[in-house]
Amino acid sequence: MTDLARTSDHVAALRALLGERSVLIGSDMAGYEAGARHSGGRAAFVMRPRTTADASAAVAYCVRHKIHIVPQAGNTGVVGASTPDATGTQAVMSVELLVAPWELDLENRSVHCGAGLRLSELNARLEPHGLFFPIDLGSDPQVGGMLSTNTGGSRFLKYGDVRRNTLGATVVLADGEGTVLDLSSHLRKNNVGVDWKHIFIGSAGAFGVITEAVLSLERRPRQSAVAILVPSNGESMLPLLLALEDDIGPFLSAFEGMSRESIVETIAHQPTIRSPFSGRTVPDYSILCEITRNWDPREDELPISEMLEQSIARVWETGLIEDAVFGPPEEIWRLRHTISEAVRLAGNLVAFDLAFRRSDLMPFLARMRKDLGKDLPDIRVCDFGHLGDGGVHFNLVVPSVGGQPLDPNFERELRDRVYRIAVEEFGGSFSAEHAIGRKNQRYYDAFTPAAVVDVATAVKAAIAPGAIGAARYHRALNPPVPQS
Ligand SMILES: Cc1cc2nc3c(=O)[nH]c(=O)nc-3n(C[C@H](O)[C@H](O)[C@H](O)COP(=O)(O)OP(=O)(O)OC[C@H]3O[C@@H](n4cnc5c(N)ncnc54)[C@H](O)[C@@H]3O)c2cc1C
Repeated sequence: MTDLARTSDHVAALRALLGERSVLIGSDMAGYEAGARHSGGRAAFVMRPRTTADASAAVAYCVRHKIHIVPQAGNTGVVGASTPDATGTQAVMSVELLVAPWELDLENRSVHCGAGLRLSELNARLEPHGLFFPIDLGSDPQVGGMLSTNTGGSRFLKYGDVRRNTLGATVVLADGEGTVLDLSSHLRKNNVGVDWKHIFIGSAGAFGVITEAVLSLERRPRQSAVAILVPSNGESMLPLLLALEDDIGPFLSAFEGMSRESIVETIAHQPTIRSPFSGRTVPDYSILCEITRNWDPREDELPISEMLEQSIARVWETGLIEDAVFGPPEEIWRLRHTISEAVRLAGNLVAFDLAFRRSDLMPFLARMRKDLGKDLPDIRVCDFGHLGDGGVHFNLVVPSVGGQPLDPNFERELRDRVYRIAVEEFGGSFSAEHAIGRKNQRYYDAFTPAAVVDVATAVKAAIAPGAIGAARYHRALNPPVPQS
């Protein structure tokens, strides 16, 4: 039987299980084959289950027929993990229709919801109750993708990542039965052995498909104040963060860095964004500093904008700040959230998602600027990111010659060089918050200790032997028996 005939048999069988419109083929698949920052994939077909039971039946079918499944949620991932490869043999399982249940427990501040719910929709439903899911980023992912990538974002400093805010999950394991693992607990305290949900959070769908989640919710901030701070120099960045933490502690909700190059490129390529430094030169580095309070303004209390101004004035005394700019919070945040897309228009972009101990971040940036300046002076470093938690989007813009794309060999050499310094010299992470996919698998393979790969291989073989996900943490299962 030809591959094509086999595929149409599979489509017919899966349509019988899931319903006609729940299995897509042909041009209907286009939106599922290319991702936010990658293209070139080709799917055999796309499955869209509406319930955990349907997802289980479809996973079992695919595993038994050795069909590689690529789980997909909002498809905003940037490491080439949410879309199929170019072979046309992998099947996408989109959870976009899996939006039920919706069980909101206001007293417990938790919600049990489907993996296909968009973050924007989740927060719109929570807003009337004064609650929100405290993950903030420039894209609009779905719950299943957020768990699978363990999304970080701009308010990590105050609220942590998705892992910290997840109470439970329901997962369909990639085995021949499509085993449903119901870990949908609403409990915050539950020390009854291994907390299994954690092996599915941040592991990019390598062990199964997350179909439901129980999320811990926070009270929505009711007041916020934002300022852009200009540190007196690169070395004062960390002391400035520590001074603010000392001074306003738990009110501090964001400490986001923006290099001069990243702001300049954003203003140049996004006409709707204005420079916050009107008329003045954009400084080498700026910090978006935000404080929030989650109650309404009170008469007997200092307005939050004055609270921030007074805190900055106290820290100013230490000589760590050179300038401070205040403005409408929405406008300042719009600048910050636009950088990521704007720098892509500046030339050929080679983007790195790195994390360091907080004390190593600025020395790494200084070292790289000096290093690259010596032999690659045309490359512009347009870094920005979550400095408060040691994360940086280290973006290199390589001038485009006649509109030509970057030479893949040059890009690989550049990546190898930056990652080696970040990981081996500075003890950093090559994937701070975007998880693992085809784009950075090479570095997982290079930097992961053999003992960790052994554990991943044993877990994979034991609970999820089916082919699933784009990331590979394990050695090939069932390797060929060596000939004697
Ligand atoms: C403009 C922009 C800004 C961004 N900013 C940030 C940021 O600040 N912080 C950050 O962390 N990320 C950021 N991202 C990256 C991305 O938005 C996040 O990684 C997001 O959480 C991915 O969720 P998604 O629903 O789009 O998942 P997808 O892209 O669909 O999938 C991501 C991964 O999860 C797997 N997966 C998806 N659904 C499931 C499921 N149900 N079960 C098992 N595995 C599944 C996929 O196979 C893939 O490996 C940004 C992206 C863009 C485009």
